[in-house]
Amino acid sequence: MKQTAAPPGLATPLQFLKGVGPRRAQQLERKGLSTVEDALFFLPLRHEDRTQLTPFRRLQPGQAATCAGTIVGVSPPPPGRSRAPFSALLRDASGYVTASWFHAGYLARVFKRDQKLVLHGRVARYKGALVLQQPDWEIVESGEDDRLHTGRLVPVYSTTEGLPQRALRSLMWRVVDAFAREVPEVLPEAVRARRRLAPLAQALRDAHFPDADEALGTARRRLAFDDFLLLQLGLAILRSRTTRARGIAMSPRGDFVRQLRAALPYALTGAQERVWVEIRRDMAAPHPMHRLLQGDVGSGKTVVAALAVLTAVEAGYQAAVMAPTEILAEQHFMTFRQLLAPLGVDVSLLTSSLAPRERAARRAALAAGELPVVVGTHALVQEGVAFRRLGLAVVDEQHRFGVQQRARLREKGEHPDLLVMTATPIPRTLALTLYGDLDVSVLDELPPGRRPVVTVTRTEPKRRAIYKFLRDQITEGRQVYVVYPLVEESEALDLKAASDMARRLAEDVFPDLTVGLLHGRLGFPEKDAIMRRFKAGEIHVLASTTVIEVGIDVPNASVMLVEHAERFGVSQLHQLRGRVGRGPWKSFCILLTSGRLGEEAQRRIDAMVSTSDGFKIAEADLELRGPGEFFGTRQSGLPEFRTADLLRDAAILEEARQEAQAIVAADPELRDPAHRALRTVLLARWRGKLALASAG
Ligand code: ADP
Ligand code: MG
Repeated sequence: MKQTAAPPGLATPLQFLKGVGPRRAQQLERKGLSTVEDALFFLPLRHEDRTQLTPFRRLQPGQAATCAGTIVGVSPPPPGRSRAPFSALLRDASGYVTASWFHAGYLARVFKRDQKLVLHGRVARYKGALVLQQPDWEIVESGEDDRLHTGRLVPVYSTTEGLPQRALRSLMWRVVDAFAREVPEVLPEAVRARRRLAPLAQALRDAHFPDADEALGTARRRLAFDDFLLLQLGLAILRSRTTRARGIAMSPRGDFVRQLRAALPYALTGAQERVWVEIRRDMAAPHPMHRLLQGDVGSGKTVVAALAVLTAVEAGYQAAVMAPTEILAEQHFMTFRQLLAPLGVDVSLLTSSLAPRERAARRAALAAGELPVVVGTHALVQEGVAFRRLGLAVVDEQHRFGVQQRARLREKGEHPDLLVMTATPIPRTLALTLYGDLDVSVLDELPPGRRPVVTVTRTEPKRRAIYKFLRDQITEGRQVYVVYPLVEESEALDLKAASDMARRLAEDVFPDLTVGLLHGRLGFPEKDAIMRRFKAGEIHVLASTTVIEVGIDVPNASVMLVEHAERFGVSQLHQLRGRVGRGPWKSFCILLTSGRLGEEAQRRIDAMVSTSDGFKIAEADLELRGPGEFFGTRQSGLPEFRTADLLRDAAILEEARQEAQAIVAADPELRDPAHRALRTVLLARWRGKLALASAG
């Protein structure tokens, strides 16, 4: 995260500062702080308003408060009861309060009578009295700089063992005071003026030691803007390179496409038609397509992708279809084979589960251009598989297909067209973040006749009733899924749990019906056989581990029973639910839980029951998991944010995106001297992934 070519002062090792010895320097290093610049960008976790100390008498249960008082007495946990809390009785001018901490026996050596403390924490009522629970605390020593630790908005930093909050804050004060002004401005003046952003140096000062709430807000806005701008600039540069690059223009007569359409038992939806026009236009253009196809589960992305694949093949090129997992690749293989084989277009599968001999033969055939369509995992681009004339790559489940893989794909031959399909609709802010380098097509319409899946939660006592319900559905001609989560660390144990369940279903519950078991350990021929039998209606109950999460398409299936539903993420549940409701029948999703749910699990289940709208689900998921996890920053290969928060700062993201696009439109490789500082910081943030310098 270092900026290069910064003024020498910023590169000063913290150890060279007065009062920072080798031991302190080591502690700072543990927080990733080695230079002055690191420290400047090490922003506080939060600020405490110590101008507004709450008198003890006014503390309210349930609220978080900052207050100050003098220690009147301490009571460590009694001997032998180390799990009891350590507590201290405190007094201020208005009255008394108890503060308590768990696992804090060491405080007996720290706290002394008559010491003054500043505390910040949540207030609770315990046995009739008010208690500050696990508050952050600081000892206020007399004679210290009062402007720093009290009587102001006080920054609170993340610390580490042996590095007290006060010492860190004092150091930060000195660093900010002496060096903030040296941080060079990176934004072009016009942008700063237009967006009314504080100068960077001032923003940094205020982000640490603001005079007032407004100053803090202004500072945060500026720093979040920079985070977003650097991200969006990088994406805009990648995108402008694609649109300027020479690609393959593919506009065959369209015989294959016509034949497939004629063979489909349905007409395309309006949304599918519209999206197909967009894709066909991109493919015909002499620049590489770089398009995201976004649509909720069941919106019919596969057939659209098949039209694109056929277009590439008819134009004389090869097409690759890639999925994140083997089972999904296998599923796609089956679907594409079913759609394309009748037209005489050969589809082959290339995954690591093939025998080495077989694999080598297919790779050779692919390199010789003998295989028009290959389906595999993302490893198809990663492992250096060679194509003779790769014209189109379709990538499903982009979450795990990051910027870098996209770049690697571009390197493969003649800038093939890229179509990325997402199964989960992504909130707009996230889409802009993750796919700022792609054009977006949206399937915002489900095929006609779809009915929302009735979703309910049940607990263990209802198990027999649930089984009866499954049986009734099967008697009516339907089929059902029973899904078991990954519960243990070990795949072998998971498999055992799932097989035990399948055996119980087969032997005890549905002895007269056919129960199949699908799991990740099976080889492709076995999985293929089970899926074919399920599709053909020969298997009534398909028990499965989460391998069926995505992609499986059996319209006759009408019930999805999820065991231990509380262990699944919300998007995962939505995907699972998307496996039913694909035919004209009323469909059901039953979320079976232990009944004793944590708050977050409860919210996930509630979200599922209350809506079937993928966008709302995705938004709930983003809120529950936080952006980092939701889109797996590391996997995406995107630079991380220092300040910005995708949820809170969405409006700033939009502004930053507009500026990034304007900048790149005028100066695609940032060669203008006015953009020099920006370019330097950009390269550092993207850590080599932009290769700006070499492009010049
Ligand atoms: P997803 O977008 O989740 O990948 P699929 O491509 O698997 O969705 O399509 C879901 C189901 O809808 C499949 O059974 C597919 O055959 C069917 N389907 C796709 N398009 C249409 C349409 N226009 N009319 C009716 N059914 C359709
Ligand atoms: Mg799909």
